[in-house]
Parts: sequence; C-alpha cells; structure tokens
Amino acid sequence: MISREKIKKTLSSYGKPVISTICSHSALQIFAGAKEEGFKTLGICTKDRLETYRAFPHARPDEFLVVDSYSDILKPEFQKKLIEKSAIIVPHGSFVEYLGPKRIENDFEVPVFGNRQVLDWEGNRVKERKWLEAAAKLRMPKDVSSENIDCLCIVKFDGARGGSGYFLVSDKKELEEKLSKMPKDVAKTATLQEYVVGRRYYFHYFYTPLSKDGFSAGNGSIELLGIDRRDESNIDELHRLGMDRDELQRRAINPSYTVTGNQPVVLRESLLPAAFSDAKKVVEASIKLFSPGIVGPFCLETVCTPDLKLVTFEVSARIVAGTNIYSDGSQYSQLFFGERVSMGRRLAQEIKCAAKNGVLDKVVY
Ligand code: AMP
Repeated sequence: MISREKIKKTLSSYGKPVISTICSHSALQIFAGAKEEGFKTLGICTKDRLETYRAFPHARPDEFLVVDSYSDILKPEFQKKLIEKSAIIVPHGSFVEYLGPKRIENDFEVPVFGNRQVLDWEGNRVKERKWLEAAAKLRMPKDVSSENIDCLCIVKFDGARGGSGYFLVSDKKELEEKLSKMPKDVAKTATLQEYVVGRRYYFHYFYTPLSKDGFSAGNGSIELLGIDRRDESNIDELHRLGMDRDELQRRAINPSYTVTGNQPVVLRESLLPAAFSDAKKVVEASIKLFSPGIVGPFCLETVCTPDLKLVTFEVSARIVAGTNIYSDGSQYSQLFFGERVSMGRRLAQEIKCAAKNGVLDKVVY
C-alpha cells in the first residue's frame, strides 16, 4: 500500500495543483468546477474521445494527455509525467473501474483526492457490509444464502458493473437455472440480497474534515449537495406491459438494472434527519475502520420503504455520475451556499482551502 507519508512528500514538491481525471463519467463537471475555482485542468483521454471533451469550452481541460488505453496510466513513466505536472487525480467510477481499487492503493503513486483506501471498502461486498451494517449500524437489505432463499432476492455480481446482469430469484431452482446461463467466472461472484420494495433515493454527500458548517460528523461535517434517482434500462417501465413475473419470464423479457440516466429528486423534508444521521454513521464508522476515513464525495443508495425507513443497499465512496444532473448545482447546494455549487466545484474548493491552509495531505491521499 502506498503510504500517506509518500504522497505527502510528493505533494511537498508540487507547484499549484492541476486537477486531473480520465475523460469519462463525471469529468466534464470536475473540469468545469475546477476551472471555476481558478485551477488548471488536465484530461487523460483516449484519441476517440478527444473531440467530445473539446466540445464543451467551459469544461474543456486546459491540457490533454492522450493514452492508447487507460491501463497506460499505471505505467511508471506516465505516473512520473502526472507528478511533474503537479496533478491531483479526482477518482470517479470509470477511473476506479479502469485501474481497479487494489492497483490504485498499491501501484498508483500520483496524489488522489480523498482517501484511496476507501475504494476497496466500497468495491468489496463483504467489507462494505462490515462497514455499513456492522460498524455504522445502517439498515441494509438482508444478506441471503443461496441455500436458504426465503424472500424475493436480487442477485448481484462483483465490480462496478452499474447493475448490468442483475436478476431476481424466488428460490434455489430459479437461481441455479439463471446462473447456469452466465459465464462461470461471473456466476461465481454472485451474491443474493433481499429485494427491498419502495422508492429509490441516491444521496450525494460531501464530507469535509476542514469545516463544521454542515451536519456535524467526525472532526468535520457533512454537506448534502443533491439527490437523484437512477433510470435503469427496462426495469423502470416493465410495469407498463401489465405482465406478471412468470409471463415476463415465459416471453424471455428479463429485467435489466443497467443505468441509462439520472433524474433529480427532492426528499420529503421530514426524512432529511434520517438521511443526515445515516451519512454521519457512515463517516464515523469509516474513520474507525480506515483512518482518516472517507473524505469528500460519497453516495448512499437507498430504498425508502412504505413505513418511511431508509434502507441502504450500496455506498459509492467517490463522486457519482448522478451528480452530473447538478453540474450547475442543486437546490440543496443553493440552501447550503446561497448559490448553486456542483460536486465538481465543491471538490475544487476543498483542494483550494486545504492548499491555502497548508493541509493538502488531509484531503489528498
Ligand atoms: P447496485 O449495483 O447495488 O447499485 O444496484 C443496481 C440497481 O439495482 C439499483 O440502482 C437498484 O435499482 C437495484 N437494487 C440493488 N439492490 C437492491 C435491493 N436490495 N432492493 C431493491 N433494488 C435494488
């Protein structure tokens, strides 16, 4: 594991930080926000995407580094180049997917915004449950054994697959049938979770160790910057066919949870205390489990049940693509800052504030 000391030393050699990420996922928002806060930006891009990332002048990075494949980023000479340019990498979902949490933790020597250790805790379902359920005491869907399926279950697979390939099962026979149609290496990573019936809310939080203006947590505070709901391929509209599960199955129409877009939502105001207190528990548990814990953006993916309880089925411990709805800030950010601030811009503000106070290593590791 790359030590915090090593990153701190690298940071001490830096000029004014340059905010950098892979041109994908939420990069436009990250670049736009960084530029709004006066930073230079650097886009890591494959040739085929250059035109797209040049097409939004306000969000266009000041400089591009072109790679043949994203795995090139891990090459020592490429890392050296990033360090020479005083790059701070903002990890987003595609960055984590292309490089992998373990390689970021062990082989990537370039300073990363946030605590790089968190990426493995969010990506590994056993660790994630230890964090959210055992340590933070959040309400989560039941973990179901394939030997004892006693409720409707959603079957998930490892990796940041964005819900692709997930399916529902009611008993062992159905599970075995469906798994037998999948590639063996994917099928063996299957985990079963109780399917929670309710309404989905995806909360965009920012934990700052540098300010106490938000909802108090750890040594800092939590800001709620937005909420979205994901649009997921066909699952959201299957009800329009008016068919029950058996009929859908007979017609080989399989539900798909693959994310296709995002919609803005506001939460019933009386649920906000629960949304904040769950986030606080997550932050404080993270500080105990992998100090200094989560830093910066994270998302709790929840279902609100008919008795108005939030059940958390997943955490994303970095900027999520749902924040792209609010590249000009959300209504919640307006309530917090008196102006609309995107998650990308909020990240840049944190780097700016930390650099100004000589504590960059508190938010960059
Ligand atoms: P995930 O990969 O965990 O983010 O899940 C992808 C999608 O599957 C979510 O956005 C939800 O729509 C759905 N989903 C995941 N877990 C559950 C659950 N336990 N109950 C109901 N829906 C779920």
